[in-house]
This record gives sequence, C-alpha cells and structure tokens, in this order.
Amino acid sequence: MAFEGLTGRLQNVFSKLRGKGKVSEDDVNEAMREVRLALLEADVNFKVVKEFVAKVKEKSIGKEVMDSFTPGMIIIDIVNKELTELMGGSQAKLAKANKGPTVIMMVGLQGAGKTTTSAKLAKLLQKQNSRPLLVAADIYRPAAIKQLEVLGEQIKVPVFSLGDKVSPVEIAKQGLQHAKDNGNDYLIVDTAGRLHIDEELMEELRQIHTEVNPDEVLLVVDAMTGQDAVNVADNFNTQLTLTGVVLTKLDGDTRGGAALSVKAVTGCPIKFAALGEKIDALEPFHPERMASRILG
Ligand code: GDP
Repeated sequence: MAFEGLTGRLQNVFSKLRGKGKVSEDDVNEAMREVRLALLEADVNFKVVKEFVAKVKEKSIGKEVMDSFTPGMIIIDIVNKELTELMGGSQAKLAKANKGPTVIMMVGLQGAGKTTTSAKLAKLLQKQNSRPLLVAADIYRPAAIKQLEVLGEQIKVPVFSLGDKVSPVEIAKQGLQHAKDNGNDYLIVDTAGRLHIDEELMEELRQIHTEVNPDEVLLVVDAMTGQDAVNVADNFNTQLTLTGVVLTKLDGDTRGGAALSVKAVTGCPIKFAALGEKIDALEPFHPERMASRILG
C-alpha cells in the first residue's frame, strides 16, 4: 500500500514522543532526526525535507509546547499541519471558464495515465451534471485514440476524433469548435506523451496551448516514479506553465516522494489523485486528508 514505509516510521517516532509526559529539546531533536530520515527514505526531495524539519522544529521547541500536558500530541499535530501545508494547504479547485467551454489540456509522459485520467475526469464532471467532450489528440501512441473512444463509450461521454492523420493542433482546434457548437461545458484534450521530454513534444503542446487557450493545463504524473515525477513536473512547468498536477497510481506501493514534494518544488498544486485503474478511481486531492492518511 502507498506510504506504508513512511507511515510506519512516523508512527514509531510519534509513539516514543507520546509516551513521554515531558519532552525535552533533545527529544525533539532526536524525533526530528528520525522524521528527516523517514522522509528521505520515502524519496521526498532533499531541500523540501530540510525546510520541513526546520519548520516543525521551530514550532515544537519552546516553552508553550514543552510545558504543556501533552507535548507529544502537540508535536504530532504540528507535523500534521506542516504536511498539509506542504501538499498545498487546502483543496485546489478546477478552474471554470466565464464563458464557453472550460478547456482542460492533459499532458504528461507516455504511460503516466493520461488517457485513463482524461476519461476519469470526464466521468467525475459528468457526475456533477456537466457535459464534457473528450478530444483524442494523441495520434502517436498506437491505440490511444481507440482507448479513449472505448472509455468514452463506457461512460457515455462523447469523444471527438479525426483519426491519426490530422495534426493534434488541428484536432484540438476542431474539438473546441465542436464543443461550442454542441453546448459542451468542458473540453478535455488528451495530448500525446513521449517516453522522455523532448523539444518536439513541447513545441506541439505549446501550439495546442496557443490554439485552444486552456483554462487548465494538468500534468499527469505517475506517483510510483517518486523524484522522477517531480523532475518531470518541474520541466513541464518551465516550458508550459502548468495549472495543476494529477498524481496517478497512488494505489500502488509509492513511497510518497512525489505527493510530498511536487507542490513545494514546482509551486503547482495537486488537483486530483488517481487510486486505481477503474474509471471512477479519481478524486479531488485533499491535502489534509492525505496528511492524515500518511500519519496513519
Ligand atoms: P498514457 O500513456 O499516459 O495515456 O497512459 P494510460 O492512460 O494508457 O495508462 C497507462 C497504464 O496505467 C494503464 O494500464 C492504466 O490502466 C494504468 N493506470 C492509470 N492510472 C492508474 C492508477 O491510478 N492506478 C493504477 N494502478 N493504474 C493506473
């Protein structure tokens, strides 16, 4: 299960603290040393860990906490709050266009879960009484168009496609017109991914961006890839200005690094979390719930 190692290690640290009626500065230092190691082992970015531990320490060491009746509990609470902050503080909501369809561009590396997540997001919006249109603009991965069409059929959301012989920029443009003509309030554009970030991919994404002027550019990243996911996010963000991140495969045994670092490193909020292959396994990301889950 996700975060298992981290949760276990943090619980260990906290049970020691909780057992003490009185907490000394040495106890806090020792606990923070262990928290630091636990986070590093969970593949959290080194700088992020350093700042996190410094903040928790600063808030924990002091008369107010140490003289209280339940210092251990207060420190756990501080960690909980700081973890929540680290992941963005509060839920980052999806933007909504003032007029016309809200355009969401889905980007990411191949295999991250872009196509699946596009359909999951369509389903989520449909459940909120919206009328999304999916656009199949990934013409390079064999079967990506068919995959989206099959998913669309399954959830009864229309899929706009022009096959794989028309340029993705043109597909996105015509998709947007189609949404306007048919009164769709959301347009979800599934773009192509590559195995690695390359200039050609970025250029094409920039062109689509210019063409459809998206309200959201969501980067889909595989949480299982840890710091690599964060590096990918950082790179995409400098080239394309992301508005949010979707973390996928949080149902796997991810150590936590991506979830805990991506907002701090890129400044981009995590907007959704995908927790399985099933079509309804996507939920809005709640930092406070994730923090509680990590603490176990
Ligand atoms: P794309 O290349 O980015 O479009 O990736 P796909 O949408 O085709 O997904 C790649 C694989 O990851 C597929 O087998 C999906 O079923 C799987 N996948 C996507 N999201 C999740 C998730 O949240 N959990 C799990 N376990 N698998 C996922």
